[in-house]
Amino acid sequence: EKPGASQSESEDNLRSPICCIMGHVDTGKTKLLDCIRGTNVQEGEAGGITQQIGATYFPADNIRERTKELKADAKLKVPGLLVIDTPGHESFTNLRSRGSGLCDIAILVVDIMHGLEPQTIESLNLLKMRNTEFIVALNKVDRLYGWKVCRNAPIVKAMKQQSKDVQFEFNTRLTQVITQFKEQGINTELYYKNKEMGKDTFSIVPTSAISGEGIPDLLLLLVQWTQKTMVGRLRYSNEVQCTVLEVKVVEGHGTTIDVVLVNGVLHEGDQIVVCGMQASFYYSYGAEPIVTSIRALLTPHPMKELRIKV
Ligand code: GDP
Repeated sequence: EKPGASQSESEDNLRSPICCIMGHVDTGKTKLLDCIRGTNVQEGEAGGITQQIGATYFPADNIRERTKELKADAKLKVPGLLVIDTPGHESFTNLRSRGSGLCDIAILVVDIMHGLEPQTIESLNLLKMRNTEFIVALNKVDRLYGWKVCRNAPIVKAMKQQSKDVQFEFNTRLTQVITQFKEQGINTELYYKNKEMGKDTFSIVPTSAISGEGIPDLLLLLVQWTQKTMVGRLRYSNEVQCTVLEVKVVEGHGTTIDVVLVNGVLHEGDQIVVCGMQASFYYSYGAEPIVTSIRALLTPHPMKELRIKV
């Protein structure tokens, strides 16, 4: 399956950016994606914890629709956005590291009521290590005492509707989070105050995955930021760049591999070489390579989770 398959070349010859969603367990990573998709993966999960890597493709049209209230006439130059959800449980460090290794940009989710937590810091260290740009989603703003719901509204508009008390609590918690990031050696600022948005100061977008405030801002920022600063990296190429997430046997299909197609095009019949799991006498330095050809390509529908049967 290759969620990137529908990422046909855009007018500007760019591929879709890949965004990875990271953060401490229970901060609302899955719920945020549910909110953007309009689905409910979170409730279907065992104990509500993501146990696999999931991926969702958001076509540009959908992003345009979700962000139209922000009246950003900035043209979307990318064909869409592929978002990868990594498992939150502490035992999945390896998968989280794989997910973050793939991405062009990340969303680091922080619960506004809890601030930075152990896996926030772990994620932060992965991002620092790989020099990956990220946007902080300061989630669960609806939990501020007395929050007035403004469903799916841009955050500045929603904030204006709040009482002085709510605004005060928000500012206090925001300042605490900014201080905690500073303790980790990272400068952060509310995204609409962060005019520079350079490498030095990362942007914070307040969000609610339950009532949708700030979601338009998050989507727009992701797309604008990637297409503005990563044009070289996002250039469409004929060279295939593809990463295997998982190998499994699917009834009716036999052995299938879940891959993320980062760049290029795959065709049925293409010959591919993947790394096997069995160490081989002939390849004393590692596993035996498997040479095979693509029998069929299955692509999840846009806006649907890879994990959900379509
Ligand atoms: P994950 O472990 O980071 O993927 O977190 P989940 O998406 O599973 O969310 C954890 C819990 O927090 C669930 O009970 C969600 O319903 C709840 N939650 C997530 N986002 C929000 C939010 O924005 N506001 C509120 N009030 N609850 C949220």
